[in-house]
Amino acid sequence: MNLMYQSTRNQDNKVTASQAVLQGLSPDGGLYVPETIPVLTKTMAELSSMNYREVAYEVMKHFLTDYTQEELKDCIEKAYDSKFDTPEIAPLKKVGEAYYLELFHGATIAFKDMALSILPHLLTKAAKKNNVKEEIVILTATSGDTGKAALAGFADVEGTKIIVFYPKDGVSSVQEKQMVTQKGDNTSVIGIKGNFDDAQTGVKNIFNNKELAERMKKAGYRFSSANSINIGRLVPQIVYYVYSYADLYRKKQVEQGEKINVVVPTGNFGNILAAYYAKHMGVPINKLICASNENKVLFDFFATGIYDKNREFILTTSPSMDILVSSNLERLIYHIADGDVKKTEELMHSLSTKGSYEITEGMKKNLEGFIGGWASTEETKTSIKKVYSEHGYVLDTHTAVAASVYDNYVKQTEDRTKTVIVSTASPYKFAENVLEAVGVKPIPKEDYDQAKALNQVSGVEIPGAVNDLFEAPVLHNSVCESGKMQEMVENNLKII
Ligand SMILES: *Cc1c(COP(=O)(O)O)cnc(C)c1O
Repeated sequence: MNLMYQSTRNQDNKVTASQAVLQGLSPDGGLYVPETIPVLTKTMAELSSMNYREVAYEVMKHFLTDYTQEELKDCIEKAYDSKFDTPEIAPLKKVGEAYYLELFHGATIAFKDMALSILPHLLTKAAKKNNVKEEIVILTATSGDTGKAALAGFADVEGTKIIVFYPKDGVSSVQEKQMVTQKGDNTSVIGIKGNFDDAQTGVKNIFNNKELAERMKKAGYRFSSANSINIGRLVPQIVYYVYSYADLYRKKQVEQGEKINVVVPTGNFGNILAAYYAKHMGVPINKLICASNENKVLFDFFATGIYDKNREFILTTSPSMDILVSSNLERLIYHIADGDVKKTEELMHSLSTKGSYEITEGMKKNLEGFIGGWASTEETKTSIKKVYSEHGYVLDTHTAVAASVYDNYVKQTEDRTKTVIVSTASPYKFAENVLEAVGVKPIPKEDYDQAKALNQVSGVEIPGAVNDLFEAPVLHNSVCESGKMQEMVENNLKII
């Protein structure tokens, strides 16, 4: 039996996994969710003897049921190979009392590689399966890391083009350099004058423009999304939660069935939603701790049941979490409404018209298991300093938000449950802020000198992805107003 996916806003919009991967967003504006969350059929003991690719297959086969075993294994082999700088793919490091799950060993040294190295393969297979003749145009809004990871994943993949929009003044210098130096004839990178939410809204509007879709089709193109709303992103992210628990089990850090807590530095709510799915698949997880930076919409949501984006957008040192509309939260809303699509639609309508909504008492009860926390920029800095001076381990600014939230959580609750802190980026990606937090003075001006300084304090080798950057020429330099995004796309595809 195939597992079908339905829209969060209309249960009659049902598609197969490969169709959901192709479409990204449902035509009614909702997100695709699996009709049921499958459970693992292998025991932890069995999973603990498998490598990352084998675990990936065990998890993904339950979700992507219309891919054959051969197709799925082929996608996995192509994704999780020597692009990662460690054969473990997602190593777990014990630092003090906590376990850091390092998700930054891929091509762009941030966690988005975990999903974006496999998505292009899932997508091109899905196109073949569904007899899609048009060329696929990936349109992506990025707060920094998605963009580069998607570019790296799709560059020169036959039958695809990729166009990435990023907030011109809202990403780190290394992030920007990574994107504007991207090679590949099928890649475009455009800065917008606005923030990430403007970029994301612009992309959503382009996706929802039926008239444009018609013209695209005539010209032989169709859009797809690499954003974290695509289930082809979500499903591969469930894998590392299963893998990390199996790793704890293998290393005899947990007893059979012992529950752990998980702390996730959160922006668009994709990563932590994958943890929620892993929990429902049977991974023994107790608390899911959602860590926000000063843009603490989610913290307020978990505290009050009210989601309210009407507030100042704050630029922090963890730019990939500077988000006021966490798209993937819609899936959680659907699940805690017990699959009530009318209610989900009503709340999402309220979000788009009023910028806020409030969930019901019943839905609040279903949020049990989630804890919200947030850390200020100052606390984030302190956390980097503290972990470095106590353990010699250097956190990036996003992971440090999670570490700080975790510290506060333990202080408040004295909950000593073993905890995995999800480490979403290499400190090399945000070297300047990290050096400042660690106390290096003076901080070198040039990116390359900062990398060298970080190498000296951390003893961690400069990743190849960073080394290569310093010689690479800038290949993309377009900038536009956020209202002109569609025009840029039309120009790019020559469909004016
Ligand atoms: C994208 C990103 C996040 C946020 O993840 P979401 O799935 O959007 O919640 C956190 N840290 C880093 C480094 C990221 O790139």
